[in-house]
Amino acid sequence: MAGKRCIISLFPMRRGLIALCAAAVLLAILLLALLPGGDAPRETDARLAKAGEGLTDYTVTLRLNDQEDTLSISEVIQYRNDTGDALSSLMVRTWLNAFRTEETSPAALEELYDACYPEGFSPGGLALYDVLWNGERAAYAYANDDQTALEIQIPALENGGQGELTLRCVAQIPACCYRTGKAGRDYQLGNVLPLFSLYQNGAWRADAYSAVGDPFVSECANFRVTLYAPEGYVPACSAPLAKGEDGAWRGELTAARDFCLCLSPDYVTASGRAGETAVYSCAKTAQGAKRALEYAKKALETYNGLYGAYPYPAFTVCEAALPFNGMEYPGLCMIGADNYREDRADTLELVVAHETAHQWFCALVGSDQALQPWQDEALCEYAMLRYVRARYGQGSYETLKYYRADAPMREKLPGSLTPGSPIDYFGNLTDYRTVVYGRGAALLLALDELLPGGADGFLKAYAEEFAFRFATWADFEESLNRYAKMDLSPLLLDYLDTRMD
Ligand SMILES: [Zn+2]
Repeated sequence: MAGKRCIISLFPMRRGLIALCAAAVLLAILLLALLPGGDAPRETDARLAKAGEGLTDYTVTLRLNDQEDTLSISEVIQYRNDTGDALSSLMVRTWLNAFRTEETSPAALEELYDACYPEGFSPGGLALYDVLWNGERAAYAYANDDQTALEIQIPALENGGQGELTLRCVAQIPACCYRTGKAGRDYQLGNVLPLFSLYQNGAWRADAYSAVGDPFVSECANFRVTLYAPEGYVPACSAPLAKGEDGAWRGELTAARDFCLCLSPDYVTASGRAGETAVYSCAKTAQGAKRALEYAKKALETYNGLYGAYPYPAFTVCEAALPFNGMEYPGLCMIGADNYREDRADTLELVVAHETAHQWFCALVGSDQALQPWQDEALCEYAMLRYVRARYGQGSYETLKYYRADAPMREKLPGSLTPGSPIDYFGNLTDYRTVVYGRGAALLLALDELLPGGADGFLKAYAEEFAFRFATWADFEESLNRYAKMDLSPLLLDYLDTRMD
């Protein structure tokens, strides 16, 4: 933050006045340093540094080639086996490989196809060049049909043991308006970096890339990133990036379970602060950037109050061509370009509010987005309603609650879809939204009536208890029952698992 300047060189001043002015400047600097956003250590910095201790470390170098639509990726990963088991293989997720064929691409779902591939199908994927474990070539193979789970053989690694995994590959970016793809002149590079999968119950998770929902599950890790991009591109990134004299962009991200980067030669940026957090907004127009920035700031401020402090030093919202409203990553949310239209300001605010809530329920507290998507989506939909109540009062809250939670409870749906269903039960986004977001949020609204301190009180305690960790359904349930001092398991089961048709 820039300090205040005292201009003393233009006019002769008496020595006493100069001394007074200098004292005032010193005082101002001291005060600024003590204010949130000044140079004083932030409380959340200490918390974040502690959370980052002992985590897997990714040192990543990225080079964008906009002539060939490729991203060269070099990752040197310091991995520590904390699984509790001795390991003979590691697994990283190579989600981009799902974009190789129409059969496996999540963007080729019938209801999305035309929006995602306006020029027809375009393949993408990863070409692997080096897979090294402690400097030696390692054998590897894909563990699933869509080639999104790369299993790497290693000599036995005891629990607590450490090693260095090096991956070098080139990502071919498909022309695709999706969380991963090139859209016009923009690169939307969500889920392009190969990241460790989640080791659970004695095995690595190798879920397929479902077209509905977000199938990504991972533990927190630390990232140190260097990006080389052709002149003129503006990056929006999970890790705030600064351009060095050598032209490379560099940044760090501590204790984050995913990483995203978007690049556009057409981004206009706006920036501000929300409490201790630097907030950035990238959009195609100055007005769009400013509008989304204000909503992001308000959402952060609201959730800081409701659910505890936002964990990272920076937060970015960026406009992206998406077939859905938004997509969350730690420190960054992509917001669908349609929401930036002049006539959709209200929608933009609700989308930003929902996606920002994921910084607490998805990024900070990890959960199983593939098997229990309600555990982040329902919570964020509910949080969005609370944002509306905090900002616009009870009347607006009641109206929106009716459309977003009460109406989905009444809607007739075929089959036996319940909010507790895994994402691969859902054949289309509409049913997914109705059931997991809408009916899932109804669970939180019911809890709000029951709990002393309301559902927000519980969610704050839950976010604190599981910060930077992974919470299972059982963890949520146990935490809830402990907070409520009563057995709410039957209520949970009633809302999440009961057939609704
Ligand atoms: Zn969501």
